[in-house]
Amino acid sequence: MRTPLIAGNWKMNGSTELVEAFGQAFSDVTLPAPLDVAIFPPYPYLDVARSAFAGTPVRLGAQTLNPLHSGAHTGEVSGRMLREFDVQYVLVGHSERRQLYRESDAEVHDRLLAALGVDLTPVLCVGETLEERDAGRTMEVVLRQVGFVMARLEPEQRARVVIAYEPVWAIGTGRTATPEQAQEVMAGIREYQAGYDRDLAAGLRLLYGGSMNASNAVELLAQPDIDGGLVGGASLKVDDFLAICQSAG
Ligand code: PEP
Repeated sequence: MRTPLIAGNWKMNGSTELVEAFGQAFSDVTLPAPLDVAIFPPYPYLDVARSAFAGTPVRLGAQTLNPLHSGAHTGEVSGRMLREFDVQYVLVGHSERRQLYRESDAEVHDRLLAALGVDLTPVLCVGETLEERDAGRTMEVVLRQVGFVMARLEPEQRARVVIAYEPVWAIGTGRTATPEQAQEVMAGIREYQAGYDRDLAAGLRLLYGGSMNASNAVELLAQPDIDGGLVGGASLKVDDFLAICQSAG
């Protein structure tokens, strides 16, 4: 019922050459169906990626957006601009944005609302730090991050959000949450959403992120509440990312 989504977050990595290699690799590949695939390259590569991914199943995502349409905000990019480049998805609240750029729950909410306003699909990233997990606060932290945003949306807006659970301690560390740990949190998020609307919760796409790779993807993606992956490091290697996509069948 839920179409899996495999999303590759390149962060501040990549090159025109890598974009073209992905375009080539995905141009004659048979993927499991149904499956959505998206690559989130840095902004300067969006245009070349739009051309390179044309005719492939790969869609485009961006890593963040400014909540405003335009104005005196040096260095920022708006959702409207992203739409001009055929971007369909945007990350909001990635833990690196929350930690390195001090994005608060309120700012994450503003960005997510801006994304919905221009018909981008927001991928809301949530997750606990190691200290929070060790203190037994995982669900409290994750549901605070989810709840802050969801409580301020209209029902029809809630249905358009994808949520990525990314334990901070698993991002870029090579330490993956066990399938059971990830499943437990995903089930908790879905149950929380069911408090708003059972049908909406049943249709909500939940991605796992945190050192997902070609070896651990099958087991993670087999969990009943995991509908895909948000992949960082392994999305920079064509073969690994393809293998993860193949695991989503
Ligand atoms: C991410 O940045 O969203 C991520 C999950 O990174 P990695 O796969 O490298 O842990």
